[in-house]
Amino acid sequence: MSTQHSLKIGWLYPQLMSTYGDRGNVIALQQRAQWRGIAIEVVPYDQSTPPDVLDQVDIIAGGGAQDRQQEIVMRDLAGAKTEAIRRKLDAGAPGVFTCGSPQLLGKYYEPGQGERIDGMGIIDLVSKHPGIDAPRCIGNVVFEVTAKRLAQELTEMLGGQKPIIVGFENHGGRTFLGEQAEALGTVIKGFGNNAEDKTEGAFYHNAIATYSHGPLIPKNPFIADWMIKTAIKNKYGEDIQLSKLDDSLADRARATMLDRLGVKD
Ligand code: GLN
Repeated sequence: MSTQHSLKIGWLYPQLMSTYGDRGNVIALQQRAQWRGIAIEVVPYDQSTPPDVLDQVDIIAGGGAQDRQQEIVMRDLAGAKTEAIRRKLDAGAPGVFTCGSPQLLGKYYEPGQGERIDGMGIIDLVSKHPGIDAPRCIGNVVFEVTAKRLAQELTEMLGGQKPIIVGFENHGGRTFLGEQAEALGTVIKGFGNNAEDKTEGAFYHNAIATYSHGPLIPKNPFIADWMIKTAIKNKYGEDIQLSKLDDSLADRARATMLDRLGVKD
């Protein structure tokens, strides 16, 4: 057990961006680190937070929100807060951004009603909601992580197994990746970024952007371990081995869902 390591998670807009249960990602990250003797502090980042608070954090987490809340957040992020997030991600801080949050990281979001809103422009993607009467992309989603370096690192962590994510999506917006963006994965079941091109999410330095709720991490705990390992490497320059945890419940939940969806793991 390591007692000398400690990490801070910057949690974006916990009040406004927790509509879809993505706080589960923060709880699972925190718990899995603590079980390994790594101290974790969760730092909320919202309208009242000075931008440079983010310079202190080692991991960033952001969840989903409905269009209205998302608009408030997008306006608040413009300027110094965007630059603080960009600095962190460009320096390799691992991040988990779900659904509404990846839309913020892109160039713009066109909501179901109203005007296009500028995003942070950190990832080369755009998101467009085709209108409140258009069907939402809702349901269980399964995808294989294909972002090159992440897929390699996860496959190694999983002892040679392919990194398959099981999750749940619920979005009206459709995301289209630009040439500079690398997809996080390829859809096996579900809609993914836009229900057209089979891409799912985006991977930027060490930031995972995805439409997958679930929440993502409790359902796919290896993502938490990769984030913790990556954050420790970034902060301390150490390649640590995390002790194995009993993931049998998560494994059974994944196996049940894969079976129900007719996907071979
Ligand atoms: N507002 C976005 C949409 O409907 C995001 C939804 C979400 O975060 N689940 O596309």
